[in-house]
Amino acid sequence: MKYDVVVVGTGPAGSRTAKIAADNGCSVLMIEKRQEIGVPVRCGEGVSKAGLKQIGIQPENSWIASDIKGARIYAPNGKHVLLSEEQAGGEVGYNIYRDIFDKSLAKQAGKSGVDIMLKSSVFDVIKESGKIKGVKVKSMGKNLEIKADVVAAADGFESQVGRWSGIDTSLKPNDVVPSLQYTMTNIDYTEYNDFYIGSVAPGGYAWVFPKENEANVGLGVQLSKIEERGDVKKYLDKFVEKKFPKGKIVRIVAGCVSACAPIEKTVGNGVLLVGDAARQIDPLTGGGILNALICGTIAGEVIGNAVGKQEFNETLKWYEKKWRDKLEDKLYRNWIAKEKATTLNDETFNKIIDTLSGYDFKKVSTIEILKGINQKHPELTRELEGLI
Ligand code: FAD
Repeated sequence: MKYDVVVVGTGPAGSRTAKIAADNGCSVLMIEKRQEIGVPVRCGEGVSKAGLKQIGIQPENSWIASDIKGARIYAPNGKHVLLSEEQAGGEVGYNIYRDIFDKSLAKQAGKSGVDIMLKSSVFDVIKESGKIKGVKVKSMGKNLEIKADVVAAADGFESQVGRWSGIDTSLKPNDVVPSLQYTMTNIDYTEYNDFYIGSVAPGGYAWVFPKENEANVGLGVQLSKIEERGDVKKYLDKFVEKKFPKGKIVRIVAGCVSACAPIEKTVGNGVLLVGDAARQIDPLTGGGILNALICGTIAGEVIGNAVGKQEFNETLKWYEKKWRDKLEDKLYRNWIAKEKATTLNDETFNKIIDTLSGYDFKKVSTIEILKGINQKHPELTRELEGLI
């Protein structure tokens, strides 16, 4: 079997890369280890409406679960600050059905001519004279070798294709956020996605993302702040007991999010990494759907160019440059903010939210807010100096 491009993984990053590469004239195969695309869901399912629009993803009723007005960020003392959708970042706008959303993206890839292979696990890459030239796959009990000029690794948080290709994607305990989420019913509907910060979720946050008859209630904690993975469940159970004593759990989702600074390298000879595999998730919010789609679009275009030129080393490096031009500054800034936030105590979070809750973010500039913080809590200016 030989394709121009093999894409490993059919999440948003994989399907988008595959579709755009096919639209740019490539023969493409997507390989997925699961038997059904998008299942099981491992996501809070919040995504920015405006962000999707910018990428050109048309909203579909089948995957929109709720239309969200904005975000409420809750301090440990219960005070909150309200942010509009535009101000709230990549996770606020629609709450979606991720399984249907992922399938819809894969169908768009299929319509562009991409072949799809399910229940097939990539277990190594094919190397020839230092170049990546395809993948080894276990499919329905058979071992196959599939040749390709480009391998796009869209194999998510647990990505191994990068490592097999000699690209370092390893993470420090500070940069890993194990997360647990319950989809719960018997919870009152609101039009806001809620975020709870402070000791409720050390080094992370708790979230409540509502849909019509259910809500995703989850929590992520910095790995270095817990003794064992089971501690995440203890934090979530405590949160749920307090907030939603009458809620009933209908689904449990466990997964990890990376919260690192941008990694050094996401491209090799004949290979590139995209989405969570490339650690392109936002390290502050843990939102990764949009970035996976943005980088998948860039990856697909660059791969199309490489296949057109039949040059798979220098040309692929454009992917590295282009995605960094678009996202790297923000990812780096948000990583610094995350590093700072993980050192703050409840009292400081209370003061920050107390100050911010007095502002209408639509009408004031960041400088005015900083002046306000300085007036109300001058000690915070020093605490947050580096961040500011
Ligand atoms: P994935 O969606 O993880 O897709 C990777 C695919 O590769 C999977 O289908 C996997 O089965 C397949 N695969 C892996 N290895 C192989 C292999 N060897 N062979 C074949 N196939 C393979 N982001 C948001 O924007 N909003 C949220 O509300 C949000 N909430 C989250 C909540 C939790 C608990 C978690 C864990 C994450 C959340 N995220 C959220 C992050 C978001 O889910 C990811 O950023 C997004 O899924 C990244 O897409 P991807 O295509 O890179 O990877």
